[in-house]
Amino acid sequence: MMFKSIKSKIVVFAVMATLVPSLGLGLLSFRQNEAQINDNVTRELRALTNYAIREIELWVEKRVHETQVTSASIVVIEGLTTVSRPANTSGKNRAAVARYLRSVQEKLDTILELTVVNTAGEVVASSAEMPTSVTIPSNWLETRVIVPPHWDKQYHAPTLSIAVPVLSYGDVLIGTMVAVLDLRNLKPYLKSATKSPPGEVLLLDSDGRTLISSYANMDELAQLDPALLSRLRSQTGNSIAFQGLTHKQVIGLADGASELSVTVLAERDRAEVYGAWIELRNIFLGLVAALVLVVTAVAFQMGRSIVVPLRRLIRAADRIAAGDLEVRLSATRRDELGHLTQVFNQMTDRLRRNHAEIMAANEAMQQQNQVLKTLSITDSLTGLYNRSKLDSILTDQLARFNRNHRPFTLLMLDIDHFKTLNDTYGHVAGDEILTAVARILLQSIRSIDYAARYGGDEFIIILTETSAELGWKTAERVRTQVEALHPTVKGSAVSLTVSIGIVESQPEDTMPTEVFARADHALYEAKRAGRNRAYCPLLAKTEA
Ligand code: GH3
Ligand code: MG
Repeated sequence: MMFKSIKSKIVVFAVMATLVPSLGLGLLSFRQNEAQINDNVTRELRALTNYAIREIELWVEKRVHETQVTSASIVVIEGLTTVSRPANTSGKNRAAVARYLRSVQEKLDTILELTVVNTAGEVVASSAEMPTSVTIPSNWLETRVIVPPHWDKQYHAPTLSIAVPVLSYGDVLIGTMVAVLDLRNLKPYLKSATKSPPGEVLLLDSDGRTLISSYANMDELAQLDPALLSRLRSQTGNSIAFQGLTHKQVIGLADGASELSVTVLAERDRAEVYGAWIELRNIFLGLVAALVLVVTAVAFQMGRSIVVPLRRLIRAADRIAAGDLEVRLSATRRDELGHLTQVFNQMTDRLRRNHAEIMAANEAMQQQNQVLKTLSITDSLTGLYNRSKLDSILTDQLARFNRNHRPFTLLMLDIDHFKTLNDTYGHVAGDEILTAVARILLQSIRSIDYAARYGGDEFIIILTETSAELGWKTAERVRTQVEALHPTVKGSAVSLTVSIGIVESQPEDTMPTEVFARADHALYEAKRAGRNRAYCPLLAKTEA
């Protein structure tokens, strides 16, 4: 079919009307939820970093205190005092300090190395065989941390070095005690199992390498992409999503513990954060899909219930347009379409009835026309052609003759003394005689010839494509038959004769009147010659 079905329009509309608002509203609310979740996570991650930083600072503080206690030991103070004197027994004292330092270091698993340095910056004694070389910065008394957290190759562990002053009994600075702290001990403090919000904490050095983390099994020194690190640092306080070091998508937030020059990174598994949200969103999308399916099915069915009967109506209307009125549709539905089908059937019925009536009326009219046509060319008394038809026949014959030059012959007949018959036997008998003569004329001519009543007791015969000689024979046949008729009128046989004028068509004949005039003249000659005879001027003879 050439037209677009309304079924698809209904389906498209229904789907749009379902999909647009539900998806629009749904996605809007999901976006809001997402933003809210993001806010919450950011807040939690911020709390987590703050907690971790505070814990680290506290831990360092405690280690400083421990080192201070160690530095105030008599062994250390005396050792330092004696080694600075000239001509000393320094070797022995150094060994004593070293021994002491080693015993303290062995007791404290948070300290990897304890080294005592004199005011000149020389190492006096150390718990380690090969003490890590340290340069004490000028502001060490304020910061305590002299080497920020880093990966220590010697100890193969993340470390941090602090320095505390060693004071003599007279409160004079006599040296520095440097402690190398094992950051691995910090791991349990990064994140409290009860207090802190969910998430993991990582301690990164300035290059983004992981020193320690709250993850149970994190690769040592796993390094964060430098670009990502700078992005995290620039977004301080705000979370971003990225591919974490655990190869999972995470949401993370970084903060710097400024004094320690490390970066504290708190992160959470993105799938875990958005898990419930994603699940809810998928359920929602599934529901929308199911809804769309149901709506599509219903709309399709609705469209079908409109389109199918409409198509039936269209097909029926097409058949009617093509002239087939025998169409009838079953109307079982109780809705508008059922009503329309009923009306359609009524219309078709009426059309059929009207058509039948018109056909009948048409036939009757055609019959009447035929009758009228016959009447218009027939003489009512004799049944022969009437005068007006005779004129048209003659005009036609003249035209033919002009074309094919084959002549026709015209006979003009007049009953002899008809007035007397009329007067003697009455007008009705006269009519009967006229009818009897007409019958003889009809019997005497061929089917291609014409017989007409010219008026009163005068008749005309036109013999097509016939010469005067042949016409003469027909005239004689008619004349003798009439003469032999002897009709019985009111009990007595009447003698009846006709006179006949015969003319053949001439090239100069143009009007019927000219032919009639010549025939009239020939008839006059036949009458004058004594009646009951034919006369033909061409043959110039009369016969009785
Ligand atoms: P003629 O031999 O010279 O022809 O003599 P006629 O008496 O026949 O004279 P004419 O032909 O002139 O007369 C015709 C008559 O025919 C006159 C009229 O009364 C009569 N007539 C004309 N029409 C009818 C008709 O329809 N019915 C009857 N019964 N008579 C008719
Ligand atoms: Mg007459």
